[in-house]
Amino acid sequence: MSKSTTDLSGASDPSLVELRNQISAINHEILVQLNRRAEIGLKVREIKERNAIEMFIPSREQEMLDGLVEANAGPFPDQVIRQLFREIFSASLGLMQAREKETLMVSRRPGDPDALVQVGEVSVGREPVIMAGPCAVEDEDQMDRVAQVLADQGVAFLRGGAFKPRTSPYSFQGLGEVGLRMLKDAGARYGLKTITEVVDTRSVELVARYVDMLQVGARNMMNYELLKAVATTGKPVLLKRSFAATLDEWLRAAEYVALGGNSQIVLCERGIRTFAKETRNTLDISAIPLMKDLCRLPIVVDVSHAAGRRDILAALARASLAAGAHGVMVEVHPSPHLARSDAQQQLDLDQFAALLDALRPDLMPHARPRAARQLADS
Ligand code: PEP
Ligand code: MN
Repeated sequence: MSKSTTDLSGASDPSLVELRNQISAINHEILVQLNRRAEIGLKVREIKERNAIEMFIPSREQEMLDGLVEANAGPFPDQVIRQLFREIFSASLGLMQAREKETLMVSRRPGDPDALVQVGEVSVGREPVIMAGPCAVEDEDQMDRVAQVLADQGVAFLRGGAFKPRTSPYSFQGLGEVGLRMLKDAGARYGLKTITEVVDTRSVELVARYVDMLQVGARNMMNYELLKAVATTGKPVLLKRSFAATLDEWLRAAEYVALGGNSQIVLCERGIRTFAKETRNTLDISAIPLMKDLCRLPIVVDVSHAAGRRDILAALARASLAAGAHGVMVEVHPSPHLARSDAQQQLDLDQFAALLDALRPDLMPHARPRAARQLADS
């Protein structure tokens, strides 16, 4: 009988077994050396962090690769050596950056509880909150009618833009300080906390004088000077995700505010830009659990700017709360068809009341059956 039919694995060939043992031993040596290399990489990281040196220095990587290729005696061709070591370098850099992520001020470390953000006596981060109001503050009557409905419905936050970042410079830009005053007055009349967007560093101080919470909009998430400026006000910040931001970029934007001495930050997912044409943006539901995993900050979802239409807001809001969001933002206007911005997506007052009715079971966890509550709380 031929050998190949009895011992396909070659286990009975002593020289083959010996060579295989040598290979296994070398594998283990490589493993030990790789981890030694990684440990040294982490020490390098510490020194770099202390001295604010870039983690990735391309010229250093090039130098190491050139040195290895020069020393390469084969049989591996130079190209394969480059490829293998590039993988090792990139794994090592990944490890250095992963540790860096854990050390951000806003990072969640194992066992960290959720953060609560206090806006006056209202907490964001536990029971879901609703933030509602018109896209833009337009007049006293509009603000009064919306605020009254919010107060009747037990909603805590009134929103409204006084400085509007518009795609066209010819579109309504907001009422500025006059609008801030209308927002503040309506909020004060009905005992609502106010939120408005601040669009530039020049107006931070002015806006902070009028409202309870400062919103940094999607277009400004990467305006780092603005992030530093809002941090200095001591006011809670609603930080929207840019429609083109990765979660990591969003997290680091929050870090700017935290590093500026203000950890009162609420994240707001508002949809990202995709190829979908049916909605204005695509609501990224996965961002909710993922950001909750990465950091302790509360997260709310602006369903209006995500959808850009009225008819699917209840579904998006319920999905957001089911995914763990701490609240929902929605645009409401007494006469949406007359709105000076985002007319197609704002709810009228009756539609808003209907939305709240649809959300009621999600908003009042204590009214849910005990078993469901325990599941949600565990
Ligand atoms: C807004 O909330 O008014 C707004 C402009 O939203 P975003 O920054 O998400 O586009
Ligand atoms: Mn709007």
